[in-house]
Amino acid sequence: MKRYQQPAEPFRIKAVESIKLLSRHEREQRMAAAKYNLFRLDAEEIYIDLLTDSGTSAMSNRQWAALMLGDESYAGARSFRKFEKTIKDIFGKKYVIPCHQGRVAENLMFSTILKHGQYIPNNTHFDTTRGNCLHKGGVPIDLPCADSASVEALPFKGNMDTVALEGFIKEKGTENIAMVIVTITNNSAGGQPVSMSNIREVSEICKRHGLMFYFDCARFAENAYFIKRDEAGYGNKSIREISQEMFSYCDGVMMSAKKDGLANMGGFIALNDRDLYDRLAELLILIEGFPTYGGLAGRDMEVLAVGLEEVMEFDYQDYRIEQVAYLGHRLIDAGMPIIEPTGGHAIFVDAGRYLPHIPAEQFPGQGLSVEFYVEGGIRTVEIGSVMFGGVNPETGEKILAPKELVRMALPRRVYTNSHMDYIADVAQRITNRKDEIKGYHITREPQFLRHFMCELAVCEPEHARA
Ligand SMILES: *Cc1c(COP(=O)(O)O)cnc(C)c1O
Repeated sequence: MKRYQQPAEPFRIKAVESIKLLSRHEREQRMAAAKYNLFRLDAEEIYIDLLTDSGTSAMSNRQWAALMLGDESYAGARSFRKFEKTIKDIFGKKYVIPCHQGRVAENLMFSTILKHGQYIPNNTHFDTTRGNCLHKGGVPIDLPCADSASVEALPFKGNMDTVALEGFIKEKGTENIAMVIVTITNNSAGGQPVSMSNIREVSEICKRHGLMFYFDCARFAENAYFIKRDEAGYGNKSIREISQEMFSYCDGVMMSAKKDGLANMGGFIALNDRDLYDRLAELLILIEGFPTYGGLAGRDMEVLAVGLEEVMEFDYQDYRIEQVAYLGHRLIDAGMPIIEPTGGHAIFVDAGRYLPHIPAEQFPGQGLSVEFYVEGGIRTVEIGSVMFGGVNPETGEKILAPKELVRMALPRRVYTNSHMDYIADVAQRITNRKDEIKGYHITREPQFLRHFMCELAVCEPEHARA
């Protein structure tokens, strides 16, 4: 069976960080003390933390060595030159704006180019991209391809709907569109990749209409791996060559380097437009720092220069994507329905389908997340009606999410395949008694982004009847 032949880790481990599994009794107590919200747990209380793949990568020995080479000069640091050279080579752009994380790149860009009321179409906006667009008076528009909603395991579900894009441009007029963005991989659509042919089409449409085309490319190397594996004509190309071709079609990129930078902090914009660079650099000096460090230490830029190269190594990506797929297949075998195919950085368990006895109003995703912690010390995140639900302020109607999911994001190079086996064993134990899992209700919630800090309680039978 091919699916169990996942490659062994293509690294050996030089430094270790201990993790501890608290007793079941302690886990039950901590979960109750955290009001059944996993964001309220301390990291020390967790055995395996799958909350996010952002900023959680393990650095290599070469990155740790590079750290000592950091040139912390205020202006013109050697470390910036290295960082800049690496980015110019991969992304093929002349100018680099460093910043401390991806959302600052978005803030700088939208503050500079966006006029009030202008649209920004994207395959699917990531939360911070959407938030920054709205904050600067723009209108974020999602145009995912039709396949993205299919339950079948189709390739390139992250694509943009190019017919819809063309129609949208004709309807709104180019003067009302600030730029077009393609997010690779499509994070909010489950880490699904975008094909080269789709990228080429979007680029061609933007050129024809004179629109700026940028990538939001936090996971560009994972996307390139999927193109190599699944798109005709790319099997013999390297991840670097594929990345270079992807970026040859765009005007520039915004990147959160906390993902495929294989580092714990960082981000940048790369572009060719000199005039735009000058305007961005001016704002950068005001809010982040001088254009040769922009919110990063010299050592951070050294680490990123190495990480951006390592992330394109075939053996690394093969292990990475196969590890995600391996966990997905083992969860299916443990009786948990997941979103298929597995994407680049996370598994999404369909808790709504898995726990049909818990109605969406009682948050089946939260119920399953709590269970993963209590049963195995594993932290996951609910992506369902706790996160996206609420009450419509005008009508008073309840809003529910389209799906009740639990996300397991895998940090890069951090957990071994034996950790994946452990997670699957926990999943099996949960399945064996899944009818006992209870729903939850919110007892206290803040006005915005309630999932981060809200408090919950178990639904007792009177709630079930209500
Ligand atoms: C993480 C992420 C961002 C935001 O980056 P931060 O570094 O967290 O500020 C933007 N877009 C995508 C697709 C991301 O995954």
